[in-house]
Amino acid sequence: MMEGCIFCRIVKEEIPCHQIYEDDLVKVFLDVNPVADGHTLVIPKTHYMNIFDVPEKLASHINVICKRMALLCQDKLGAEGVNVLNASGESAQQTVFHLHYHVVPRFKGDKLDLWFHSDSEKKNNVRMVKEKLLE
Ligand code: 5GP
Ligand code: ZN
Repeated sequence: MMEGCIFCRIVKEEIPCHQIYEDDLVKVFLDVNPVADGHTLVIPKTHYMNIFDVPEKLASHINVICKRMALLCQDKLGAEGVNVLNASGESAQQTVFHLHYHVVPRFKGDKLDLWFHSDSEKKNNVRMVKEKLLE
């Protein structure tokens, strides 16, 4: 547990949340500032900052739970699609530094735009980047 971490406090039940699911390793609850009905956060019960420090096995389990939340939203809310989003690091717009995945149900015509827009200049770098990544 990390002193002062809001999600650790939710795990310890010091702060209330609208819980949807929990097991030994993870907890799922509704985002307090949802962008859609059924916007949930999937978090490990142990404190890890983000994707860089979480152990692989736990990351896999979190992914399975994201899938189950997607199916739950499809089944119970009639979601037609889902975005599963993670921000790791300040540069990636992470604001709460306890690993979490957003699961956001999507509906036709919901007017949300949670996807990236490509930068055509970056096209020129593809070959060079591949070399860097593989060297
Ligand atoms: P991120 O770090 O990926 O930008 O997002 C953090 C998310 O945590 C935000 O969507 C924010 O609304 C949510 N959040 C922050 N504090 C609380 C809280 O105390 N309770 C709940 N349920 N969600 C929170
Ligand atoms: Zn924490």
